[in-house]
Amino acid sequence: MDMKVITPPGRVKTHHDNHGWEAGAGFEYYTEKNMDTIPQLEKLSKDMRFEMTVVASVLPFKVNKYVIDELIDWDNIPEDPIYQLTFPQRGMLEDEHFESMANLMKKDASRSEIKEEANRIRLQLNPHPAGQTTMNVPTVDGEPIPGLQHKYNETVLYFPAAGQTCHSYCTFCFRWAQFVGMHDLRFAAKEAAQLKEYVRRHQEVTNVLVTGGDPMVMKTSVIERYLDPLLDPALDNLHTIRFGTKSVAYWPQRFVTDEDADDLLRYFEKISNTGRSVAVMAHYNHYRELETPIAREAIRRIRDTGAVIRSQSPILAHINDEAGVWELMWREQVRLGIMPYYMFVERDTGAKKYFEVPLAKAYKAFREAYRHVTGLGRTVRGPSMSATPGKVEITGITNVNGEDLFVLQFLQGRNSDWVRKPFFAKYDPEASWLTDLKPGLGADKFFYEDELAAMAAEKAA
Ligand SMILES: *Cc1c(COP(=O)(O)O)cnc(C)c1O
Ligand code: SF4
Repeated sequence: MDMKVITPPGRVKTHHDNHGWEAGAGFEYYTEKNMDTIPQLEKLSKDMRFEMTVVASVLPFKVNKYVIDELIDWDNIPEDPIYQLTFPQRGMLEDEHFESMANLMKKDASRSEIKEEANRIRLQLNPHPAGQTTMNVPTVDGEPIPGLQHKYNETVLYFPAAGQTCHSYCTFCFRWAQFVGMHDLRFAAKEAAQLKEYVRRHQEVTNVLVTGGDPMVMKTSVIERYLDPLLDPALDNLHTIRFGTKSVAYWPQRFVTDEDADDLLRYFEKISNTGRSVAVMAHYNHYRELETPIAREAIRRIRDTGAVIRSQSPILAHINDEAGVWELMWREQVRLGIMPYYMFVERDTGAKKYFEVPLAKAYKAFREAYRHVTGLGRTVRGPSMSATPGKVEITGITNVNGEDLFVLQFLQGRNSDWVRKPFFAKYDPEASWLTDLKPGLGADKFFYEDELAAMAAEKAA
């Protein structure tokens, strides 16, 4: 893939020149360094542009031409959902953080001062939520394998070192710490061989989920180098290779016009021919991302390889916190042959406050959308929190003997025995994460808490 940062003010091809996706259209993107040169931003007020620069000095910013030209409706700024999804907004930083950074910039502070302040702020934004740095890093012969995470029995997450960026960044992303150059916080794999060895020794592992960043930023030849060892027939416990990716939405060209698009599709077929399935875990936040001709062509081509596309997204204020957005998105996905999979609750990190949706509201939006789609769309589950003990779903809101309650269940647990056992929390209309909840029906703790504490103590020892 031809990745280049646009340098001002050169003319770049747009869809008016080439219908958007003819071969040869290169991948071009902007970051905080040259965001001033995005032509569409000229419409914004000076204040808004300054605010954007301030926020982009702390949180990662990157957006490509396809997203700017084809997905954002520039007549609907700042409300446009895809604009909110990719462009920094004032409210994404707390006032105190915003002010301190804005003041530095106004007095033309040096780059190193700005960098130092940015890092100071970042460390206060919970860069690694849900025990990621301590509880999930696996070992082979006592040696930690930094590019792997193994939390649930059957599935290993794999973060190839070369895949730690994305075609554009999402403003809400809980992986933001990986993108802002805080290297000691970054998960990255050195060795594909370690992964293979790990899967071989862990016969319970049936799935490898390749994630990032976005693994589809890697050239096909690089993906092959990482994954070929896994295709060994001797590894017969491995049934499925999943790719967690936003590229089908942000850069569908990856599957259509990139030089090695066809090679990638042939590689999916090659994986299938070893008797395994390929699942593209496609990250879609809004139905808009399904609408362009090239987005549809990418979906069609992926499905032609026999790979299954499943969709997942968090529910986010300013982007998709209305039931109607989900209903339309799930309907369109079913029509295009994509299986709706998860609705997530936004994690407790980064710009959480800006995007926060109370659990009660998330549940109501989920239910309202769910009840309007057929069983084909009801493959979706959620809203689900990827929290320290596991994936916890808000299954319902109910009342027992006068007490208002959330009904919860684990969809995935650190102990698989926790899965699908309903449990209760006191109803709280403001709660937006598992840690905000108190046990219901007179319990003094949740049923898994002692066991979880024992697990954490064991890891720490
Ligand atoms: C969500 C998740 C998985 C995959 O879970 P599925 O329910 O099988 O999709 C694996 N590992 C981690 C850490 C996860 O958060
Ligand atoms: S594409 Fe995925 S990993 Fe990349 S910024 Fe968006 S949510 Fe984060």
